[in-house]
Amino acid sequence: MTSPSDTDTNGQRRAEIAESLREVRQRIDAACRAAGRQAEEVELLAVTKTFPAGDAALLADLGVTALAENREQEARTKVAEFDTLRPRAGVRWHMIGQLQRNKARSVVRWADVVESVDSPRLAEALQRAAGQALEVGERQDPLDALVQVNLDERTGRGGCAPEEVPRLAEMINRMYEIRLRGVMAVAPLEGDPDVAFATLSRIAERVRHDFPEAEHISAGMSGDLESAVAHGSTRVRVGTGLLGGRRLVSP
Ligand SMILES: *Cc1c(COP(=O)(O)O)cnc(C)c1O
Repeated sequence: MTSPSDTDTNGQRRAEIAESLREVRQRIDAACRAAGRQAEEVELLAVTKTFPAGDAALLADLGVTALAENREQEARTKVAEFDTLRPRAGVRWHMIGQLQRNKARSVVRWADVVESVDSPRLAEALQRAAGQALEVGERQDPLDALVQVNLDERTGRGGCAPEEVPRLAEMINRMYEIRLRGVMAVAPLEGDPDVAFATLSRIAERVRHDFPEAEHISAGMSGDLESAVAHGSTRVRVGTGLLGGRRLVSP
């Protein structure tokens, strides 16, 4: 799909992304079939970190409705630029990276969802910030939140310990300014993703049992989405699979 106003490079980039998107959607479909699940049960979250707002705009043009960033500072300028490129795109932006409490005020201005809530103090900071943003009209809706679970005892790539999840979930669930929507995790760099995602699935089941609206499991990236879908992921977060290799490697 090209329009006459596109420059050649833009048209080329669009074709490239369209092709990757087809491949990723096929992988998700195949993984769902293999797991006996419906393709509609798994949402594709396109991770645009380190890539320009123009790429995010092309993804939106191609029908992607959920975009994600992992660094607050990079995201805030990119989302503003995206909003001028595609004023009424209607995409939802997800924050998926580690977040410092002093960035809460800023993140609630652009993020529809924060998937990386991993401590009571961060939850409280987001609650205050979301409340203020709602009051002054910077937000229309409460903030959707996922509890990030650390599945890697040795290194920890963000997330709270599995045993802390129920208490944090309960705390968030009581907040009017934040809606608890589920759990998120990154598989450990080493080891079997199946083992990690099976653990996450058990944790998610307990959270869902206590809070039925916390239905989401955000799990699976370019390298391990099949395993995540087999273990019940409802949202895969794909970056390199859609946009190619990143020059800056983010944690
Ligand atoms: C970068 C990132 C992804 C996407 O990883 P790819 O391997 O590029 O698909 C997913 N989740 C988180 C938390 C990330 O930071």
